[in-house]
Amino acid sequence: MASEYVSLQNIKFLLHDVHRVEDLMQYPLYADYDGDSIDMIIDTLKELADEYLFPYLEECDRFEVQYENGKVKVHPQILKVMQMMGENGWIGAPYPVEVGGMQLPHMVAILNEYIFAAANNNLNGYPSLTMGAAGLIISFGNEELIETYLEKMLTGKWQGTMALTEPQAGSSLSDITTIAVPTYAGHYQIKGTKTFISAGDYEGIENVVHLTLAKIEGAPAGAKGISLFVVPKSRVGADGKLQPNGVATAGIFHKLGQRGYVTTQLALGDDDNCHGYLVGEPHHGLAYMFQMMNASRISVGSHGAGIASAAYHASLEFARERTQGRRWNDRDLTLPQTEIVNHPDIRRMLFMQKAIAEGGLSLVLQCTRYEDLHAVSDGEEKEKYYLLLELLTPLVKTFPADAGIQSVSHGLQVLGGSGFCEDYPLEQYYRDIRIMSIYEGTTGMQSLDLLGRKVQLNKGLAFKLFLGEMQQTMAEAADMPELQKYAGQLKSEVEKLVGVTKHLGKIAATGDIELFLADATPYQQMFSLVAIAWQWLKQGITANKVLQAQEKQGDDLKFYQSKLHTLKFFYVYELPKTEALAAAITSGENLTVLKDDDLLI
Ligand SMILES: Cc1cc2nc3c(=O)[nH]c(=O)nc-3n(C[C@H](O)[C@H](O)[C@H](O)COP(=O)(O)OP(=O)(O)OC[C@H]3O[C@@H](n4cnc5c(N)ncnc54)[C@H](O)[C@@H]3O)c2cc1C
Repeated sequence: MASEYVSLQNIKFLLHDVHRVEDLMQYPLYADYDGDSIDMIIDTLKELADEYLFPYLEECDRFEVQYENGKVKVHPQILKVMQMMGENGWIGAPYPVEVGGMQLPHMVAILNEYIFAAANNNLNGYPSLTMGAAGLIISFGNEELIETYLEKMLTGKWQGTMALTEPQAGSSLSDITTIAVPTYAGHYQIKGTKTFISAGDYEGIENVVHLTLAKIEGAPAGAKGISLFVVPKSRVGADGKLQPNGVATAGIFHKLGQRGYVTTQLALGDDDNCHGYLVGEPHHGLAYMFQMMNASRISVGSHGAGIASAAYHASLEFARERTQGRRWNDRDLTLPQTEIVNHPDIRRMLFMQKAIAEGGLSLVLQCTRYEDLHAVSDGEEKEKYYLLLELLTPLVKTFPADAGIQSVSHGLQVLGGSGFCEDYPLEQYYRDIRIMSIYEGTTGMQSLDLLGRKVQLNKGLAFKLFLGEMQQTMAEAADMPELQKYAGQLKSEVEKLVGVTKHLGKIAATGDIELFLADATPYQQMFSLVAIAWQWLKQGITANKVLQAQEKQGDDLKFYQSKLHTLKFFYVYELPKTEALAAAITSGENLTVLKDDDLLI
């Protein structure tokens, strides 16, 4: 078991110095907080994660969720985490005080997700999903729904879920078939099957509230016919008591990772007695659900960055202890073996892990900063932050997930044979992080969203705004002799990205949409590398200012030097990968679109 999983110094550096959370405190919405209270919150979250989550990392994996006779048994720590999160107000962290929330900036609330996911990604999903589901009721539910469900969910007594996926409708939600039939009593009768539903059921929790997508009988085809319902496992009867609501757990899934985080298959209304309560207007369900999906995508990004961070700390700790071989310029066999952290190949893998984990978290904070600025601004400014957030959401979901998987794989490699074995946490991190690029929209679907929709959003304004944001950072870095070179490199990378985007735009103009979108994923990968390079330049500017002031010493000084070093590493080892991606995208070879002869044999 490693001893650490996140760096509080890094979190505070990113939050205060790079992304300036204090800017938000001038607005009435966040005026109750200041830098010190935010730091206290972060320290508390870390203490809670140390006590409630991290010690159970291995147990949650080994004590795999069990299903017997329709009942789901999970690790007892899950109920304790739900209770602790509910009683201390964390489930309502980003929501208004009037509804029982803490009105915490999203930039801070997301750190709860990050720290908890790093500590134990088998436990953090339960409160996180409840938070998202409660958010939908707050935003779109009527008085009765708020009255019946909110307090129970925010206090962790009732679990919340998102019930979207069906066996025939995963990426393609417009194909859901769960049906909702209106009744004279006002509720709807729900019937259908939902699959892969996280936290969908477990023993010990009082109730589970499924925020469910379904189609009202006779609704228009496709996404325009989807409505959102609250479908509780147990409904509140006329006597105020809970009674079964026709939601049966048909089974659970046995998974590669996240074995303590239950994934269920739900049968709704097999007994023709499953009540659903409409949220908001009929047929607006998918639009409402996007609130939760977008928030969850940022959460998934934070979870990917969190696991990548935990893996980095575990690998580094191992590499500092494990001795093997000697340094290549010092082959004296009478000397003791050297720690593997001294070998360049190991250092390369560790720097890659650090670059991904810390770059990924920086992008997560950038996005949540836009979310907060959107919440406090009006008019054009509001639109600007909305567009920037929309554009970056597919990236923040995807980069920490995909690059996180690679970084954890490097981390496992650092441990050699031990990395493959259960005695160390790397193999579990490797399994646990793998889901991040699948749920909440696969990498492929996120990439299609980026290229097919977001880059063109508002006639390309979102993309232009993003270029403007990077331009500001590059201009600041160009004034610093230590960073000029990297500002110049980012400038040419941005030009390359713009060139590739124009190239793809020309294909789109021909009307061949399949060809246009065929390389959406390599495009997204290229875009992500540029966005993360931007985040590293931002970190470099901040670190460089501190170093120039020459006030830091010892470990503090090393922290900032390490930031600059990792920036350089990213620009030398990772960023140039855009060249290969751009070459593939612009090759004109058209090798993946299905033609008459399918050569996949
Ligand atoms: C552990 C786990 C937990 C989950 N939790 C939840 C949950 O809580 N609630 C919930 O509703 N769902 C949940 N899901 C479902 C998850 O969101 C879906 O698995 C995911 O969206 C992909 O859908 P699918 O599995 O049906 O794959 P498919 O949609 O069949 O996709 C298979 C592959 O085809 C690609 N593909 C699909 N369509 C296209 C296209 N048009 N163009 C190009 N490529 C395409 C995909 O990118 C993917 O690589 C969970 C899944 C898992 C495994």
